[in-house]
Amino acid sequence: MKVAVEMVRERLISREEAILRVEPAQVDQLLHTRIDPSAKVEVLATGLAASPGAAYGKAVFDADRAEAMAKAGEKVIMVRIETNPDDVHGMIAAEGVLTSRGGRTSHAAVVARGMGKPCVAGAETVLVDLQNRRFTAGGKTVYEGEEFTIDGSTGRVIAGKVPTIQPELSGDLEQILRWADGVRRLQVWANGDYPRDAELARGFGAQGIGLCRTEHMFMEQARLPIVQAMILASSTEERKRQLDKLLPFQRGDFYGILKAMAGLPVVIRLIDPPLHEFLPSFEDLLVEVTQAETRGDPEGSFADKRTMLAAVRSIREQNPMLGLRGCRLGLLFPEIIEMQVRAIMEAAVQLTKEGVDVHPEIMIPLVGAIEELRRTKGYLQKTVDAVLEEAGIKVPYKFGTMIELPRAALIAGEIATEAEFFSFGTNDLTQTTFGFSRDDAEGKIIIPYVEQKILPSNPFETLDRGGVGRLMNIAVIEGRQTRPDLTVGICGEHGGDPASIAICEKLNLNYVSCSPYRVPVARLAAAHARLAARDADR
Ligand code: PEP
Ligand code: MG
Repeated sequence: MKVAVEMVRERLISREEAILRVEPAQVDQLLHTRIDPSAKVEVLATGLAASPGAAYGKAVFDADRAEAMAKAGEKVIMVRIETNPDDVHGMIAAEGVLTSRGGRTSHAAVVARGMGKPCVAGAETVLVDLQNRRFTAGGKTVYEGEEFTIDGSTGRVIAGKVPTIQPELSGDLEQILRWADGVRRLQVWANGDYPRDAELARGFGAQGIGLCRTEHMFMEQARLPIVQAMILASSTEERKRQLDKLLPFQRGDFYGILKAMAGLPVVIRLIDPPLHEFLPSFEDLLVEVTQAETRGDPEGSFADKRTMLAAVRSIREQNPMLGLRGCRLGLLFPEIIEMQVRAIMEAAVQLTKEGVDVHPEIMIPLVGAIEELRRTKGYLQKTVDAVLEEAGIKVPYKFGTMIELPRAALIAGEIATEAEFFSFGTNDLTQTTFGFSRDDAEGKIIIPYVEQKILPSNPFETLDRGGVGRLMNIAVIEGRQTRPDLTVGICGEHGGDPASIAICEKLNLNYVSCSPYRVPVARLAAAHARLAARDADR
């Protein structure tokens, strides 16, 4: 990078040549700790390279202990079969995360990428024994407190403590990225849920927030009990009472993120995951209640658990990712999304009154039929109008949708009659186009498929141009036929992958959105894509 910048200064090469001499993967290396290439390593297992960077630390198997050990000054790596929102405080404390189950869009992978921490996910040959606090891989057993290393850039799990090289941020990188900004057509936005993500993303050069997943806010410790009471409410009135308690929290969340992104668009997605994700696991509850019964514990000591078990059982689905989630939730329980939209608009009103320029964009997930969008918008428009009328001021806002089901892509022309913007949710779109579970298929099917050359690459990592890309192309063209000024972006994990960014350039998207730490990589990749597309046109 240094050589490239200096050669431009000495007029030996053009800026464009300098941009092309730096690979996006090299930017990634500069931004993350990496394994010293001269070190001898003993690889115990290989999982998915879920979040780049290398880290070593003592193995620890639960979040509370990870936090306690980190507080005592120890470096730890958190090892779990898979993570859930209860693990986040441990992930914050840990140097990195290893899971034996889950894909690139699993909780561990997405949260670690958002935090800029290394993560190896879905390492299926790592046998995690939580009860005995140890894992076995490659014929070795690593007990709690023993050091090991992960390389989230390659997916390797390595024995012992391996020397690493720290990132070397330099002015040369900034220079190359500024030149890249002058070349690229695609905007680069970021996925982020909190003001701290937004600030970080802005610092890296993000031009908007392309995905704020509001449910992550629901999962915070202080709010989860209210969310659970809301889900388990036996009447609409009771549900509304709980939602009233959540409203100030959400308003505060949106106030923070809209303020941090002043002057720039913030796409806020309404609640998306199946409701059981907010409740304790069915299996765990079943085991606990059965054990209590077998032991003959007094009824009163586990009555709450039994009630929760019955509730979880009643909302359980065989295929939750194809079930009651996304806009379907909002249609069956409109009061949930009405609360969210009230919170968004009240925050926007407050900021506008304080002189802050805000651009909230309300995004409705998992739409597959035009009537879903029309009706949802119908409810929500009333809420928006009510808030703006109460406030007596105008605030710019938009309604749009995710395109994350094949059917949505195929009827995009119709959807664009109601949506002012589209954002491709390529995690779900890949899952539903291939029929591959985004939670399990990578480790179990896709890695062997790629090894055996049945597939050229992992479609959850790099967009599948021939299938998913074709659906996207239909959606872009037919959406813009209906609404020529339709803004179209991508917010699935592919938005930070250079090869996928090249496809997004060809599809003529307006922006890509990725985790904050990927923004510099995406800025360079978008410039490469532009230069390649221009050369192809010549
Ligand atoms: C997607 O499906 O690509 C997406 C961004 O939404 P989520 O990962 O939250 O389902
Ligand atoms: Mg999705």
